[in-house]
Order: sequence, then structure tokens, then C-alpha cells
Amino acid sequence: ATPMSVMVGVGKAAEAGVLIRNGEALQTASKITAMVLDKTGTITLGEPKVTDIVLTSDESKDTVLQLAASLESGSEHPLALAITESAKEKQLDLLTVDTFNTIAGHGVEATITGKQLLFGNEKLMISKHIEIAAFVDQAQSLAAEAKTPMYFAVDGKLSAIIAVADPIKEDSIAAIQRLQANGVRVVMLTGDNRNTAKAVAEKVGITEFYAEVLPEDKTQKVQALQMEGEIVGMTGDGINDAPALAMANVGFAIGTGTDVAIESADITLMRGSLHGLADAIAISKATLSNIK
Ligand code: ADP
Ligand code: MG
Repeated sequence: ATPMSVMVGVGKAAEAGVLIRNGEALQTASKITAMVLDKTGTITLGEPKVTDIVLTSDESKDTVLQLAASLESGSEHPLALAITESAKEKQLDLLTVDTFNTIAGHGVEATITGKQLLFGNEKLMISKHIEIAAFVDQAQSLAAEAKTPMYFAVDGKLSAIIAVADPIKEDSIAAIQRLQANGVRVVMLTGDNRNTAKAVAEKVGITEFYAEVLPEDKTQKVQALQMEGEIVGMTGDGINDAPALAMANVGFAIGTGTDVAIESADITLMRGSLHGLADAIAISKATLSNIK
């Protein structure tokens, strides 16, 4: 494409809220054969809300929520915000956190008023030898409702399962259909629970998805698709997504996402809508066919 036609294409895309950082990305977009979508904050709003607190010990719901929110006050994960917001609504004071640690792809741990707290997924509980067998079915049935269940343990004993729900963006289904109608293979990647991922994928019409993917493995999934011969677009919003965005042939960041994701991407979807993906591909095709 000539520099002039690329400039026109970049301008057209900007009008559609699609910010293209370099001309090369505009030219590659039309060749994308597979689009990898992160789930949380990309397909969904990334604004989870607490929906269920299932007690598994004799602590009260308020105590559980107060401890969990105090623990999460040190985390920037969207799940953490859901918990701290819920405690705020119930006007629960946050307690002083003595030690705090994030375990990427698993959850968080802290010591608060001498109590050892753990909060996260099944993998975290297994690695810390917390007995959860009696409650896994309950967690999985919450997951089947597209909710994300998290286990909360105090001093080595499971205290509660807290579930959050993150609504799907209202136009995600249509935007994904548009990509599929263009012959693009759409793949969802998430660190979330397998059943939660399955429920969300079904709702948005994605048949190929990978769940419980550790942050470092997102990049590998992109590479695996490239090795299959796909020209890969990757769309994400989180710090976790940044390496995969850089690895993809074209990286797309959600405009409301983290700075790290935006800096690692070639294209930013300013409106947060996944329609920007098919828009970018269409503008790319028009740009290339205009010149010859
Ligand atoms: P993603 O952003 O793709 O959903 P992450 O790797 O950030 O995935 O998280 C994977 C899982 O680890 C979450 O679904 C959750 O169960 C657990 N987790 C991560 N961070 C936290 C946190 N701050 N509090 C509780 N659980 C967490
Ligand atoms: Mg995300």
C-alpha cells in the first residue's frame, strides 16, 4: 500500500474509534486468520460483582467479606475490586494487612491480625494443601452459571467460596459473529476456571477455548497457532496479556485496559467494543485493494 492510502486507512479507523499505531499493523490486519480473545475485560466488561458467599466454616459472611476485602486491598486485579466494592457497600472497615503476596494466575495471600489468609482458585488451594474436596461441586455449579468462584481460607481451613459475575459486553456476541462470518477462527484464552470459561464461550458462540491458562502460557498459545500457519490477532486488556499481544502478528488492546497492554499492542480499540476488530480488518482490506 502507498503511504497515502495507509494514512487514509488510519484516519478512517480513527473515526471508528480504532487507533492504529503503525501502518504495518493496518496492512497485516486483513490477513488475520485466527483471533485470540482474552475473556475478562475483553469479551466481558471486566467489572465483576460479588453474587454469592457460600460459608464453609463458622465465620460470618461479614467477617469473611471483611477479611477478604482487606486482603484484596493490595491487589489490582478486577476480581479484587469486586470484593473491596462489596465490602464498601456493606460499610465494613478494612483491616491492616501485615504481609501481602500475589501469586500470578492463582490468587493472593496475606497475614492480617495474625491470621493466615489465602484467596484464589482451586490450584492455589491445592498448592497450599487446603482441604476443598467437599466443596468443589458447589464451586463448579457456580462456574456453570458463568460465575467465577474463588476459595477463601483462614489459617489453613476453607472458610468460604465467594463467587463473582462479570457481565458480557452487550455487543460481544455480534462482534464475534462478524469475525466468524469473515472466516476468522476465534479462540478464547483465560486464566479463569474451565467451567466458567465454557459457560461464557457458549454464550458468545465460541467453540474453541483454553481455560486456566497461566499468564506466561498465553504467549505460547499464540505461538502454537502461528506454528499451525495462522496469522494471529490477539486482543486483551490486562498486564497478563501484554507478552501475547507483542507476540501476535497484530496485537489489539482494549482502550479501557491497562497501560501495559496498550503499549504492547499495535491497535487500540478506544470504544472497548470488539466490533473494532472486524472494523479494522475491513479497513485494512479496503486500504490494500485501493492501491495495487
Ligand atoms: P484472567 O485475567 O485471564 O482471568 P488471571 O491469571 O489473572 O486470569 O487469574 C486466574 C485466576 O486466578 C482467577 O480466575 C482467580 O481464580 C485467581 N485470581 C487471580 N488473581 C486473584 C485475586 N486478586 N484474588 C482472587 N483470586 C485471584
Ligand atoms: Mg483480561
